[in-house]
Amino acid sequence: MRLGLAANQLHHAHANAALFRWLHECEVGIRELELGLHAVGRTYDAIHRAGYLDRYLPLRRYPYGREGGLMKLVAEVVGLGDDRVLDGAIYLIDPVDPSSIFPEAIALKRQCVIHGKPFISTVATARDWIEMERIHAGLAPDSGANVFHDLEAQTLALIAHDAMKPQMLAYAAEHFDVLSRFAHRVGTGTTGQRLNELAWSRGWPLDTPWVERYQSGPMGGDAQIADLVLERRCQRAIFFEDPHVARQHEADIQLLERAVTTRTDHAVCMTTPKVAARWAAAVVLRAKA
Ligand code: PGA
Repeated sequence: MRLGLAANQLHHAHANAALFRWLHECEVGIRELELGLHAVGRTYDAIHRAGYLDRYLPLRRYPYGREGGLMKLVAEVVGLGDDRVLDGAIYLIDPVDPSSIFPEAIALKRQCVIHGKPFISTVATARDWIEMERIHAGLAPDSGANVFHDLEAQTLALIAHDAMKPQMLAYAAEHFDVLSRFAHRVGTGTTGQRLNELAWSRGWPLDTPWVERYQSGPMGGDAQIADLVLERRCQRAIFFEDPHVARQHEADIQLLERAVTTRTDHAVCMTTPKVAARWAAAVVLRAKA
């Protein structure tokens, strides 16, 4: 497995910056998984200087951002033949860094979504992803990741664009028991309504919504849910985006994603059905381990 790796400047600017918080928690897991990391120049240099992943051969250096390093990662997410195919990307975003909204940054996310690959933009998502892959690899649970499995204490946000609603319903039906473990579920208006109908059809008490519904996406539901994330009242978002249409409320969608990166240590975001299904399977496996 190979992931692209980049972090905005703030996230490797000091010894306790986000990139290093992730490596501190996950270096052992990265080595256990023999995870390939294609890191853009400054991110690679910072890891090297800080002494993480010392002599770890699957860590490869890519050009600096200004020389196209991030652009090359986008092409590899799409795929360029055997040696140059990435299975996803970690891009630790500082939402107020202007480069986080450069076209190559947006394209990196978009191509991950289009190709069903993980796009990991927060420390919490990166920690959760490593643990998920460790569990699928048959390794014993890492107690450092328990916080991501304490679903009974957390709120989950569920959002799907119109073309993705059938997949959201299929996903929720298949993983209903895992999703029902959360203390609370929230969603945008239409997604929430469809999910509630599904839950009621499966015997969820008729007087109780399975999902607390906010406004419909185009009417501001994403912004309302973003506020929950900022208030640390929502720890995980499963957001099935439709990358193939122009979205009238694009700004709101970006706002929600930026809110998630504002809470980088606390908010996990999953952007494709494939990744969300792999996570739900790992939750079940880990609970049995
Ligand atoms: P909806 O909103 O669930 O109300 O359709 C989702 C979206 O379009 O963002």
